[in-house]
Formats: sequence, C-alpha cells, structure tokens
Amino acid sequence: MNKAAPAWLMEELRQARRGRGKGYIQETGDLLARLGLTTVCDSARCPNRGDCYSHHTATFLILGDVCTRGCTFCAVRCGRPKGPPDPGEPDRLAEAVSLLSLTHVVITSVTRDDLSDGGASHYAHVVRTLSRRCPGVKVELLIPDFQGLRDSLLTVLEARPDILTHNVETVPRLYGTVRRGADYSRSLALLKWAKLQQPDLITKSGFMLGLGETGDEIKTVLGDLAETGCDMVTIGQYLSPSLAHAPVDRYALPEEYRMWRLAALDLGFKSVASGPLVRSSYKASQFFGEIA
Ligand code: SF4
Repeated sequence: MNKAAPAWLMEELRQARRGRGKGYIQETGDLLARLGLTTVCDSARCPNRGDCYSHHTATFLILGDVCTRGCTFCAVRCGRPKGPPDPGEPDRLAEAVSLLSLTHVVITSVTRDDLSDGGASHYAHVVRTLSRRCPGVKVELLIPDFQGLRDSLLTVLEARPDILTHNVETVPRLYGTVRRGADYSRSLALLKWAKLQQPDLITKSGFMLGLGETGDEIKTVLGDLAETGCDMVTIGQYLSPSLAHAPVDRYALPEEYRMWRLAALDLGFKSVASGPLVRSSYKASQFFGEIA
C-alpha cells in the first residue's frame, strides 16, 4: 500500500506537471511523435515531464519501448521486444536534437538482454550520428549493464560519449525484490571499468530514496560509488508509478536530501543533485555545467 505524499511534495509535483518553462509541452510532444521517437519521460511516467518538455528538453529512449527486465519500481513496459534496433532511429534523434536546439542530450534505453551485444552497437551508432550531425552537443548516455559484457561497454566507449551514466537505483539488499536480473557488484564494476578505460570520461550514477533503504545503506552506496571514481551522483524520491509497482516506503524530507548532498561532496563527487524530484536526467545540462 502506498503512503500518501506530503502536501509540500504534492505541490512540487503539481508545479512540475504544469511546467515552469515557456509552455512548449504540447509542441515538444508533437515533434517527438512526428519523428517517431520515444522518451523515458513518457514511458516511465516521469513526474517532471511537463517541466522538462516546457523547457524543450526530454530524455530519449532508444532500442524500443519494451524492456527485457522487470524492475518493480519502473513503469516502462516489460516483455519480449520485437525485432532488431531501428536503423533510422539515430538520424531521427539527431533531427530532434537539432530542432529542439539542445546543447546537451541524454539518451537511455530499455534493457535488451535479447540482443547479443545488449544494443551497444546501436548506442554507438547514435553517438556517432550525433557527433556528425550535431557537433558540439554534449552527449550523455544512461546505459543498462549489458549483462557485464566488457565488449559491449567498449563498443559504447569507443564512440566517445561525453558522460556515461549507469544507475545503481537502490541499495544492494533491495535488488532481489525490486531489481531482479541486475547485480549491484556488476553495476559498480561497469562504472569502475569505464573510468579505467577512459579516465577523462565523466561517469555518473544515481539512486532513489523511499524503497526501504536505511541511512547506513545509503552511506555505503555513496562510498561504493565514490570508490569507482564516479564524478556525479543523483539522489531522488521514488514515486510508485501504479498500485502494481513497488510501494513507496517513505517520503524523505528536504533536509535529508541536503544531508546526503553534503555527504556525497565530502566523499569527492564533483557534482551532486539531490532532491525529491531529481531524476538521473533532470536538469542534466545544468549539473554537467557544474563540473565542465
Ligand atoms: S527528468 Fe528526465 S526523464 Fe523526467 S521528464 Fe525530465 S528529462 Fe524526462
């Protein structure tokens, strides 16, 4: 059973839904629909959709909209994806980046355990297309774990994204209930290995509060991420997408977000976004600007 969100959070959610930008919500949605592109903003029912769309930003979801995993906190549809990656997607995505005048683009995907490389070559194709068609645009990838396949990770790294993000999402104790199919150590290893391969690559991770974690466990996760050499971290409130998803265990207060932000900065993270509505890609350009 989900706990009711406190009034202050409901107000923040209302404002985010309405959007604080210049009112491009419909225009952004129409443009993406016309280009046949999917966003995680829609697929994951992100509470910031109105706000981000009203600022002409969105996070692209590539490799389809059906995920082969079934994390119980996530609204993205899970099942058996149909067909190979869409070869026209990289060009249409570049078109959207250019029409939206983005200077920083965040791209993520469903997990595609059905593909031999997990979709890594499609990611690389997207990055190379963007470098060619939208030079100067910062490219941030939020990747799945590719089942720990080093070759897949290397394929992505060789395309030279500016930021590589991989979220641990929650504390390791909760993986068995909310993140089956993933492996906390594998995720840490991915971040560490990426940094070892390309020390100048900016790496980023994130997790949610409100799934049942304890303060000590959060401290451990922050320490583990810092040890991988991770540069940036995001911390936000888990909001259950529906009654069929994992329930919210608690709503963290603003002072707790401030406390974790300071703790993360003490551990050496160069940029920390911590707040109830923070998502991995929320205001990504602004947080990247803090360290660029
Ligand atoms: S926070 Fe990210 S996923 Fe959510 S609406 Fe904004 S860009 Fe989309």
